[in-house]
Formats: sequence, structure tokens, C-alpha cells
Amino acid sequence: MSKAFEGKKVLVTGGSKGIGKGIAKAFYSEGAEVGILARSEEGLKAAKEEIGNVWTCVCDVTVGKERETAFQNFVEASGGIDVLVNNAGGSSGSKIADTSMEEFAQAMETNYFQAVHFSKMAHEQMKEHGGAVINITSIFGKEAGGKATYNNAKAALISFTKAAGNEWIKDGVRVNSIAPGSILHPTGNWQKRIEEDPEAMERFVDENIPAGRFGNVEEVADAALFLASHEARWLVGTTLTADGGQSRMN
Ligand code: NDP
Repeated sequence: MSKAFEGKKVLVTGGSKGIGKGIAKAFYSEGAEVGILARSEEGLKAAKEEIGNVWTCVCDVTVGKERETAFQNFVEASGGIDVLVNNAGGSSGSKIADTSMEEFAQAMETNYFQAVHFSKMAHEQMKEHGGAVINITSIFGKEAGGKATYNNAKAALISFTKAAGNEWIKDGVRVNSIAPGSILHPTGNWQKRIEEDPEAMERFVDENIPAGRFGNVEEVADAALFLASHEARWLVGTTLTADGGQSRMN
């Protein structure tokens, strides 16, 4: 039986760990040719051993030249691109009063500008034959909570998703986002916090997540497979919330 993404070329930024690795694995299992980018060569090597024959490239997505080179190399190596997953990102900062303007700018660089650049490069390639761009945002791009630096950048990514979705659909390029809630995986922040204070984290789950548990990377990856699929052909510029009800708890 043929697989859903047989022969499709999928690039996942930050695909060596956590959610990105889960997404890369899901597309690979569905027959796609998958490329992953990350800063750590060792991390990429370990991910490749776990997933299978994926294309890897060391790339700091906050550096423009590295983005261009990595993207071009992927397109040359695989012969094109059908799906881009802008997953790389991360949280930093503190209370607004204690956060410098440089930290605000850095959060935009890490979570937003680089994703815009990757999206523009992907659109340039995809406009001839169509494709899908999937941005990994966060429920904190939609709701208060977390850190302002991160929230602003993820909110900007949701806004970009709407604008690019509407501009690029005429070229057959669908742009959508996923806003995950708290996702537990071995190398992530939640795991660290559980190890530090398991009882506090149990209370956190009880008080904040109606589903009664953290989400897992497979649950985000399934949303990504859906957004890239034919079944989602009428979804344009939208953000799917994948959070077990967390953002509607209060
Ligand atoms: P992790 O920190 O576990 O993994 C991040 C991945 O991105 C790694 O592969 C990392 O590899 C790579 N990465 C980070 N910075 C860069 C960079 N500058 N250049 C290239 N690669 C980079 O994060 P998660 O899997 O938890 O999160 C993934 C995405 O999902 C992020 O955008 C995050 O904001 C979002 N998200 C996560 C949630 C969660 O609960 N985990 C909830 C909501 C959203 P390396 O360090 O080697 O570069």
C-alpha cells in the first residue's frame, strides 16, 4: 500500500529533538524524503540514527547566510520541496520590566524572522507546483501566560500565517500553523520541571490542562500530517490549537 507522503520532500527546522523530531519521524514513516536542520551536529546524528535515512544539515536558523545555504542544499539534494515545517524556536526572557530590548529582538529573531525567511524561500520554490508551509507557534501566541518576548514572537508568526496564507494560496501554497499547549518530551522544559518538582507539575496539570495530562510530540505531528495533506486543502492561514483544552481552561 502506498504511503500518504511517498516521494514528497519535507524540510523540518529544528528537527533533531522534541516536537521537530516527532514531526520528521511522522513524515518519514509516511514515505517522505525528510531533511532536518539544527545547530548541534551530534544532535542531528542521533536523530538520524533514530529516524532513518534523513538528510541533515548543521544550521543556526538565526543566521541568514546559514539559512540560505541549508535551504538551497536541501532543495538541490532532494530535487525540490513540498512541505516546510518551521518548528525551530524557543522561549527566553523574564518579566517585561526585567527584559532588555535586545532580548525582545532576539526572541523575534529566534521564533519569527527566521521562519518568515524560510517561508519566503519555500514559496519561491513551491509557487510552480504548490506546497504547504506549517508554522509551529504556541497557545501563548494567542493567550496571555508565559513570557512576553516569546508570546509576541509567536503571535507575530500566527499573524504572518494569515497574511502569507491569503497571499500565496493563489500559487497553490497553503500556509497554516499549529499552536501546541504544554508538550512533554525527554529533552524539553516540562521534563526538566517534572524532575525538579513533580508535585508542582501534577498541580499544574490538574489546574491547567482539562485533558489531565501533558501532550506528546506524536499528537502535534499528527496535526502537521493533517495540515500537509489533501484533506486539509481548504485550510488557509489558520492556526490549529493542539492543547488538550489548556488555552480554554479559565
Ligand atoms: P526543543 O528545545 O526540545 O527542540 C528545539 C529544536 O530546534 C532542536 O532540534 C534544536 O536543536 C533546534 N533549534 C533550536 N534553536 C535553533 C536554532 N537557532 N537554529 C537551528 N535549530 C535550532 O523544543 P521543542 O521541541 O519543545 O519545541 C519545538 C517548537 O515548538 C518551538 O518552536 C517551541 O516554541 C514550540 N512549542 C513547544 C511547546 C512545548 O511544550 N514543548 C509548546 C508550544 C510550542 P539544536 O539545539 O541542536 O539547535
